[in-house]
Formats: sequence, structure tokens, C-alpha cells
Amino acid sequence: MPNRFLLQDRLSQCIARAHRNRDRVAILYLDFDRFKNINDSLGHSVGDEVLQAVAERLQTCIREGDTVARIGGDEFVLLLPDLKEGECVVQVAKKILDLGNKPYAIGNYQLRVTVSVGISVYPDDGTDVDSLLKNADAAMYHAKAAGRDSYYYYTQDMNARALDILQMENSLQSALDNQEFHLCYQPQVDLASGRIVGAEALLRWNHPEKGEIPPGRFIPVAEDRGLISPIGAWVIETACRQNRQWQQEGLRPVQVAVNISAQQLHHAEFSSHLQAVLEETGLSPSLLELELTESAVMQDAEQMIDLLNALKKLGLSLAIDDFGTGYSSLSYLKRFPIDRLKIDQSFIKDLTLRHEEEAITQAIIGMGRTLKMKAIAEGVETDEQLRFLKQAGCDEIQGFLFSKQLPAEEFAQLLAADRRLDGGLPASG
Ligand code: C2E
Ligand code: MG
Ligand code: MG
Repeated sequence: MPNRFLLQDRLSQCIARAHRNRDRVAILYLDFDRFKNINDSLGHSVGDEVLQAVAERLQTCIREGDTVARIGGDEFVLLLPDLKEGECVVQVAKKILDLGNKPYAIGNYQLRVTVSVGISVYPDDGTDVDSLLKNADAAMYHAKAAGRDSYYYYTQDMNARALDILQMENSLQSALDNQEFHLCYQPQVDLASGRIVGAEALLRWNHPEKGEIPPGRFIPVAEDRGLISPIGAWVIETACRQNRQWQQEGLRPVQVAVNISAQQLHHAEFSSHLQAVLEETGLSPSLLELELTESAVMQDAEQMIDLLNALKKLGLSLAIDDFGTGYSSLSYLKRFPIDRLKIDQSFIKDLTLRHEEEAITQAIIGMGRTLKMKAIAEGVETDEQLRFLKQAGCDEIQGFLFSKQLPAEEFAQLLAADRRLDGGLPASG
């Protein structure tokens, strides 16, 4: 397969020809989504096989005269020359994304691999090799930031955004050392007693120049660059130490919940690190909960059963976060040792507004009950939502109605005051 040098050579020939014939040339810049996950969890030889399989399928998306080049580990470029006015590359981009719907059978695995695609076109988006490649790359970054598995055409403001991500990557590397992270804690309340029973630890990044960056923006970047494991390890340590400290201060024991990303979970040392943290901090494992996403546990579900059972053996609790947004296989769910289902905020938001969301929420609570899992509703903001959830038999809630996430000291004050969710009314103050 052509490499970067050959690609540059071909591209400059195409540009010259397009210039003469007044044609256009399209560049599609492809990058695998979360490819590092595959390499880290299944090994490089599986990763290599995936790359080969994808490269083969890519050939089926193009026509004679087009070029597919591999220009980096998991980066490919498609070169579509001699495009006439009006001929569009969208079909090709769609075909490429479609490839992601069919899993690759590699060894014993069925792997689904999606890609993000950025498109630039000569002469609109650049008239030389470097700027065309650079702009397609920027558009690809944009597709990643927009949630991956998508394609974007280059637009001029994309370079600013790509630069932003690049700067974020660079400063993420040193953010841990520079102590720029901290955790906030959002109370979780039991509906039967109205009392606080737990807190979700939520990560905050205070960037020295950009100010506070929300986790939704930097966590995907950290995941993509393989930086989430050390950051996640810091989160676990900090949350465990904090919870232990609250107890030493004489506060009533509550469970602290920590968000775990798929990459962390698949890391070989994940459970041994957890065990070490629990030992070092002296926190009772029963006071720690891990929040896993549906997609993280349903990917390689068969292997996940063993891993989750091993984690449960440590004595901690497991929850599935944002439940209802992914694709859970019910037969696996039944076999997973899960303690709680966190009903995604998107359903809670439209409770009492849309019948469909009510039905889904009701179904999740009922299913949880059958499987002996508790249900906690996230993002509860109104009394009406609360009333519905109580009636539906939901066990716990978390949301702005009771409290937003708080700095550790403020959470401790709330707990010390034993603030309750009384009679369905919001806690005042
Ligand atoms: P999540 O785990 O589903 O966390 C809940 C998010 O909903 C939090 O946003 C929280 O502030 C917000 N929220 C809570 N109550 C309400 C409410 O009543 N209304 C509304 N509109 N929103 C509410 P946040 O802190 O921005 O976190 C966003 C996501 O970032 C989290 O979603 C989680 O997926 C991820 N995240 C946060 N901390 C970590 C972490 O330490 N590690 C990992 N891997 N991911 C994290
Ligand atoms: Mg969460
Ligand atoms: Mg959630």
C-alpha cells in the first residue's frame, strides 16, 4: 500500500492535472476510532489484522484510478482525482462509514471498528499538497470531536478547533503533574428515606489559561490519546482517600461512585491497582462503586463476565451509567454482577412530557427489579419528575433538584447536616 511519500507524489500529479482540466481532487483523511483500545486490550497482532482487514475493505469503496495510502499507524488517506463539477464524494464517505456496521471476524473476536473521516477538496480548500492534507486532517479531528463515526468537510474555522484539541492534548500530558484536576461530588439520595446514600465523583480540569474545561470536552481527547488510564487512576485514588477521610471525620458512611472509561477497564492492571488503592487508603470496598458505561461492558461481553466477577470479589459495587442509551444484550445483563442501573438523563428530562420516556423509565425500573438491580435516576431537576419516579418505584435519584455537584467540603457539610429530600420538595439553601 502506498505510504505518505508516494501519496504526496501522486497528489501533486493529480493537482497538476486537475489544474489543466479544471477538475477537482478530493482527499479523505481517515482515522480509526479508539484504535488504541484494540491494541491495548487485544494486543498488537490483533490490531495489525484489523488494519489489514479494513484496508482490504477500503479498496471496495473506490474506483479505478483512486488511491488508498496508509500514512500512519491507523491513518489512511483516500485520493479521488479527476472529479467533475457536481460529482460528489459524499457517497464514498458514506460507504466508508458503512464498513463500520459490519464486524470484522478476527480470531475469536467480532470487532466493530468505526472511523472518522475528514474531507478537503482541491481547489476550494487548498491548492498545494500540504494544505490539502492539513485541512483534511483538521476536518477529521472535527469528526472525532463531534462524536466519531462520522465525516466532515473542511471549513475554515476547523483549523482553530483542531489547534484547540492539539493544545488540549499537550496540556493534558502535564495536567496531572501540575495538579490541575480536582473532583466534585454530587449527592445521591434514597427515595424511601430521603437521605444521602452516596456521591458521584465528577472530574474537573482547571486549565491555567483556558479556565475550567468540562469533562465532556477533554475526556474524549484523553481517551483517544491513551491518557485516560493515569488520569482515571488519580480519580480513583482521590475519591477513595476523600471518602475515607470523611469517615475519619466522623461522618455517616456513604458510597462514592467513580466513572470508569472503557479503556481503563480493559487495562491489564486495572483490578490490581484498585485493590492496592483500597488497601492503601483503608476504604472499605463496600463504600466504592464503579460506574461503567453500557458500551464498555457489552463490548467483549463474554470476557467482561470474568472481569466484573473479579471486581465484585474485591467487595465493591458496580453500576451501569447512562443506561438505556447503548445496546444492552439482556441475556448478558442477567449474567453481569451489576448492582445498580443509572437511568440516563435524556429519559428523565422528558418525563411527564413524553409518554415514550415514561414507558422506558418504567421498563428499566421493572427490569432492574427482576434482575435484583437497583435503579437510580440521573439529572432529576423537577418535582414532577420526582413524583413520577417515586410512583414508578425508582430507588434513588441524583440531580440538581436535590443538589448539583459540590466541592468536597460542601458535600461534607450537607452530609453532616443530614439534609434530606423531604416530601418530594427540593432541599432549600
Ligand atoms: P455522567 O457520569 O453521566 O455524569 C452526570 C453528568 O450530569 C455530570 O456532568 C453532572 O454534572 C450532570 N448532572 C447532574 N445532575 C444534573 C441535572 O439535574 N441536570 C443536568 N442537566 N445535568 C446534571 P459532568 O460533570 O459535566 O460530567 C459529564 C460526563 O463526563 C459524565 O457523565 C461522565 O461520563 C464523564 N466524567 C466525569 N468525570 C469523569 C471521570 O472521572 N472519569 C471518566 N472516565 N469520565 C468522567
Ligand atoms: Mg457517571
Ligand atoms: Mg450518566
